[in-house]
Amino acid sequence: MKDAIRKQILRIRNGLSEKDVSLLSEKTFYNLKENSFFNNSTHVMIYLDFKNEIKTDPIINYCLKNNKKVYVPICISETHELCTSRITSLEELQSGHFGIREPGLQYIRLSDSKLIDLVLVPGVAFDVSGNRIGFGAGYYDRFMMRLKPGAIKAALAYSFQIVDTLPSDEYDIPMDYIVTEKCTIDCTDNYKQR
Ligand code: ADP
Ligand code: MG
Repeated sequence: MKDAIRKQILRIRNGLSEKDVSLLSEKTFYNLKENSFFNNSTHVMIYLDFKNEIKTDPIINYCLKNNKKVYVPICISETHELCTSRITSLEELQSGHFGIREPGLQYIRLSDSKLIDLVLVPGVAFDVSGNRIGFGAGYYDRFMMRLKPGAIKAALAYSFQIVDTLPSDEYDIPMDYIVTEKCTIDCTDNYKQR
């Protein structure tokens, strides 16, 4: 079930033109900046985009310029876990696991995930209750369970990635917000009822 949805949405996302990706990423960033959860955050973990995900380089540069501390994930492929490393410039990054950028060895500054107050999460499909499907390895589920209570989990996604309802397993960690090129979805109301 999760796999069929993954395939369907990835087919659409992989088919986007570079121009679509840039324009929709820009709009999503614009909407992100309308949110107090973003404006009030200090320690922000931000994914590095890969294969037509919403682009995050402009968000990272904006955060660095506005005195936020920025952390990026590093994959530990043996255990399917993520650790976080603080960056001070995009120039510290080079190609890493799966071709996703990671800090170069000399720039690795591992940090405690309990420091993070906002994490911008990638994904393949979401529903309005905040359920999320990723690439299928559970990296973000394992990571998000280690965040401090109250840390905000916000996904960045194209509106076509939002589906009616998604199946979820007990280890799946839901999103608090989903920001798209069209709007911000506040999932916390549904979330409280779960
Ligand atoms: P994704 O979230 O990337 O779509 P899944 O939710 O399907 O992927 O999870 C992939 C695998 O990771 C599952 O087999 C699941 O058992 C495992 N997994 C997810 N979260 C955890 C966790 N917190 N601890 C241990 N295994 C986990
Ligand atoms: Mg999951």
